[in-house]
Amino acid sequence: PSVKEAPPVLAPRRKTRKIKVGSVEVGGDAHVSVQSMTTTKTTDIGATLQQIAELTAAGCDIVRVACPSADDAEALPIIAKKSTIPVIADIHFQPRYVFAAIKGGCAAVRVNPGNIRKFDDQVKEIAQAAKDHGTSIRIGVNAGSLDPRLLKKYGAATPEALVESAVWEASLFEEHDFHDFKISVKHHDPVVMVKAYEMLAERGDWPLHLGVTEAGPAFQGTIKSAVAFGALLSKGIGDTIRVSLSAPPVEEVKVGIQILQSLNLRPKKLEIVSCPSCGRAQVDVYKLAEEVTEGLKDVTVPLRVAVMGCVVNGPGEAREADLGVASGNGKGQIFVKGEVISTVPESEIVPTLIAEAQRIAERMEAE
Ligand code: SF4
Repeated sequence: PSVKEAPPVLAPRRKTRKIKVGSVEVGGDAHVSVQSMTTTKTTDIGATLQQIAELTAAGCDIVRVACPSADDAEALPIIAKKSTIPVIADIHFQPRYVFAAIKGGCAAVRVNPGNIRKFDDQVKEIAQAAKDHGTSIRIGVNAGSLDPRLLKKYGAATPEALVESAVWEASLFEEHDFHDFKISVKHHDPVVMVKAYEMLAERGDWPLHLGVTEAGPAFQGTIKSAVAFGALLSKGIGDTIRVSLSAPPVEEVKVGIQILQSLNLRPKKLEIVSCPSCGRAQVDVYKLAEEVTEGLKDVTVPLRVAVMGCVVNGPGEAREADLGVASGNGKGQIFVKGEVISTVPESEIVPTLIAEAQRIAERMEAE
């Protein structure tokens, strides 16, 4: 059998220690995982599990759930048990919920050093409980809730302040011989965030969870996250990611996966190579690209599909792709693996591409 060469990457992954979040490995040679967070009330167990199932179907590897009250803490054991992917409990202010989450079978707990005042005194017990239950921890530092002592010292949530908070917290866990944790130092400004992670990466071999916090609505948040994650992952920094959008969490997962695919850090599935259209276009490229994307969204094998508006770059791109169409004169030349297999009227382009994609997928699955 022919051995396929691995696609090129921009830099080798930074060597980090590997931890486990339930069944998912984070750090070391583990693939960069994608996380999201549920938006349902955690106490609404049915709705939360339903959303987790949707996230799983979208390709999410790890899910976080909020735990702001005792009732939420009580819901955690059922959610952790029934969830299709590992569950991280997100805890602020209340150290006792950390223990509830650990005992309740959550794969991991996220603690925010800035929001748990007496946290430092309880690290020993938390470390012991986490060890006993095989739970990992995320030390989640966030610009919006930085430890007041550091805010006073630095005057703002600078990269130095974020890193100092994280390193201090890490040292507390390490003093108690607990090493199963990853770290995040999130900021809403991608430049500050990138600097913070670069500094943090110099300080230890902890696996890093990347995130631009409060990145904004889908369009802005997608770009901020792509720019920041791209800058870091292109230097090998980052072991797990969460895109934060003011949009449904499934969208976060889609964006996260697309970022990793764009960097060749995750195998590409469906890739649409479509032209931006211009004055030469002889079909409605936007509509065609959208219809092809929609029609092929359930294809499970890697497939590059070219959707081109005219004969300038059309035949070239269509020939390079697994499947393609070069349009002209109200017709589409359909390419499969570099060969023209037919020329169809415009109205037949989408159904023909979908039928051919299915045929290719069946063949690939059978191989
Ligand atoms: Fe314009 Fe044709 Fe290029 Fe599309 S392929 S951008 S229509 S020249």
